[in-house]
Amino acid sequence: MITIEHLKVQFGETVVLKNVDIQIANGEVVVLIGPSGSGKSTFLRCLNFLVRPVEGKITLDGAVVDAKTVSKREIDRMRLKTAMVFQNYNLLKNKTAIQNIMEPMVTVQKMNKKEAEAVAVSLLEKVGLLHKRDAYPKEMSGGQQQRVGIARALAVNANVILFDEPTSSLDPELVGEVLGVIKQLVAEHNKTMLIVTHEMKFAREVADRILFLEDGGITAMGTPQEIFENCSNERIKRFINTIN
Ligand code: ATP
Ligand code: MG
Repeated sequence: MITIEHLKVQFGETVVLKNVDIQIANGEVVVLIGPSGSGKSTFLRCLNFLVRPVEGKITLDGAVVDAKTVSKREIDRMRLKTAMVFQNYNLLKNKTAIQNIMEPMVTVQKMNKKEAEAVAVSLLEKVGLLHKRDAYPKEMSGGQQQRVGIARALAVNANVILFDEPTSSLDPELVGEVLGVIKQLVAEHNKTMLIVTHEMKFAREVADRILFLEDGGITAMGTPQEIFENCSNERIKRFINTIN
């Protein structure tokens, strides 16, 4: 379970998230939608302290972290529990697919190389890329690179996976293969997932709950049916219509 209380993020004088309160159950798939600049990426980044909130408490698996007093050790522990999939893949350019997946296991989890390699092979298989194990990022398509990014996020065995627009850098014909891998994860694993996406059909299919962010706060939340079909909020209806 993730509990977020009174989360506030500020960059200089600009308050980007204010008073965000939300609870997310173990295994829940939550999709975040909302206009550009509404704070979706910032919200995800707070969960592994890539962004440091100025106020608020985050509780993950019973461990409470207070933004005002958080220590480096607590941040490190938090990062072991959350893995992130980035819009631009963020793969290491001078490492192959398998080396990229092994990297966090060896450096963060201190796993020995043989063991890490075996896990990486099974993850490459899972994302359908065993044949690319020794390819460098530049030798792979965007969709393949992102599937390596997903395998890397799974490698550390975090309970929570954060996806920040995982398909928005991809050519349209490559989007499906990445969404397919995420759908497969949702079906096979009981991981908690927070996904920022503009792919509304996908959101409808995978989400247990949809959050709508606007002006630094969660202004609506509900099941896909509540948000997409029965929503009376004009602002959200307009947003969904402009995207579809
Ligand atoms: P998009 O859909 O375009 O990705 P978003 O909802 O993810 O948008 P954020 O990236 O979270 O939005 O940004 C929210 C606001 O915070 C924006 O106004 C942005 O300019 C600002 N912001 C984000 N990161 C920083 C930063 N490191 N320094 C200063 N301002 C920032
Ligand atoms: Mg963003």
